[in-house]
Amino acid sequence: MAIERIIIVGGGTAGWMAAAALSRIKAGRAVEITLIESEAIGTVGVGEATIPPFVGFNDLLGIKESEMLAAVGGTFKLGIQFENWGNLGESYIHPFGAYGYSMGGISFHHVWHRMAKAGDKRPIQVFNVETMAAYFGKFARTEDYASEDLPPVNYAYHLDAGRYAAFLRRFAEERGVVRQEGKVADVALDPESGFVTGVTLDDGRQFAGDLFIDCSGFRGLLIEQALKTGYDDWSQHLPCNRAVALPCKRDDGSPPPPFTRATAHSAGWQWQVPLQHRNGNGHVYCSSYMEDQQALDILLGNIAGKPQAEPNWLRFVTGRRKKFWNKNVVALGLAAGFMEPLESTSIHLINTGIDKLISLLSLDGITQVQEDTFNRLTGREYARIRDFLILHYNATQRTDSDFWNYVRTMDVPDTLKEKVEIFRANGQIFREEDELFTETSWAAVMMGQGITMGGHNAMADALDPAKTRTEVDEMERSIRYLVQHMPGHGDYLARYCPAP
Ligand code: FAD
Repeated sequence: MAIERIIIVGGGTAGWMAAAALSRIKAGRAVEITLIESEAIGTVGVGEATIPPFVGFNDLLGIKESEMLAAVGGTFKLGIQFENWGNLGESYIHPFGAYGYSMGGISFHHVWHRMAKAGDKRPIQVFNVETMAAYFGKFARTEDYASEDLPPVNYAYHLDAGRYAAFLRRFAEERGVVRQEGKVADVALDPESGFVTGVTLDDGRQFAGDLFIDCSGFRGLLIEQALKTGYDDWSQHLPCNRAVALPCKRDDGSPPPPFTRATAHSAGWQWQVPLQHRNGNGHVYCSSYMEDQQALDILLGNIAGKPQAEPNWLRFVTGRRKKFWNKNVVALGLAAGFMEPLESTSIHLINTGIDKLISLLSLDGITQVQEDTFNRLTGREYARIRDFLILHYNATQRTDSDFWNYVRTMDVPDTLKEKVEIFRANGQIFREEDELFTETSWAAVMMGQGITMGGHNAMADALDPAKTRTEVDEMERSIRYLVQHMPGHGDYLARYCPAP
């Protein structure tokens, strides 16, 4: 059956990202795109920290970065600062971008380890431009200095989710997407194929479609409620299941830091996402170890600025749909699954879901191989991200609460066990199956939380020591020079993308 009508159910970040991207399809024949959303239901109202591939998503749509950032009160993000994860009082940054650059075909952390063994005292962080710029509150984009002698700067954004959805709505509507306001009350299925044929709103209006994108949030209106796809529950490894969010005004006059903060507490962790006009704050916690009121009290005790809204209470079960694409329904965003925002991966998964959907889409109809491929690739992405998130908990040395005792001693997936064991042996990190997180990501979290390299790649010992030392010194110097000459993040925002 040819695809002539695409129906997107839901107008949160997932729905409008999908609408904006699909509105750019030029397939030589008309496709009607309708997005149905309910203001009465609203959106989840959180989800404001992103990772670098998101810059590419906006770029691909032809969105002007400075315009978008001004419209959403956005800031730049160079990484995430983790506090109290390895142990109380400890802190590290997981930076975007690599530690150093590879030498003789060997990843830099091996070279660094060899030099450290020989007595070099420099921490690996001084060889990462994003970490150093984050520490000094500096920011610049690579194109600002465009010198091949200086390292590139990898970044993402913090953005106001509500404003971003509104920005994409304008973008999509200008390109022909039709928005319908209303609450989906019923979903019709074809009795033979089980395909969704249409939805009915509570005022009786009906919308028929050929392909449905379920962006209805946690409820999974089509993928779960209508198609009963099923859910893999991962809470034994990622037991946090609640969050309370509380945005605050930024009124202390300090510039927003160019990084997200993730501070561990006794049964979870708190995020701080700095925007131009406010800070997004929230506390993710596990209800088996903490009462709601206690979670709110901890949050209130650790935020600066006046709350701008009532607390937003959220409940979730970590895991994923058994299928992300089922018959003629593709689930994106919270309808597809949920992993806590420790590494800001949810919006990224919407982005890659849209990429895969558009790459696989044929307007001639839906085939089983499309569905299977989408599900296999997405399943792998979820599993790799899951392992990386579990690492943050399992690699703690904290013994100060039942929660930390549980996550420190819990059994973890074999894929993660292997990764940690290999790193402990000789610092090797294999980036498998196009996984999102890089060698530096894994090394930053493992080393940041006290997992040390027992050795290094033997090829590092074959590098000429004097020549290596000169190159490494030069690398450190060029990073220091660059960071010294970068403007402060606040000044950069004020010049490049001031929010009105
Ligand atoms: P929603 O925002 O819930 O939107 C659902 C839409 O469906 C709404 O428009 C709603 O009106 C509509 N709808 C539902 N039912 C009906 C119906 N019957 N009829 C009509 N319309 C209907 N991600 C990140 O990448 N970074 C982060 O920092 C981050 N932080 C997070 C913190 C928390 C505590 C949580 C829970 C999530 C976080 N996320 C984060 C995830 C992120 O919020 C989501 O991935 C993103 O907002 C997409 O949500 P959504 O569009 O899928 O769902």
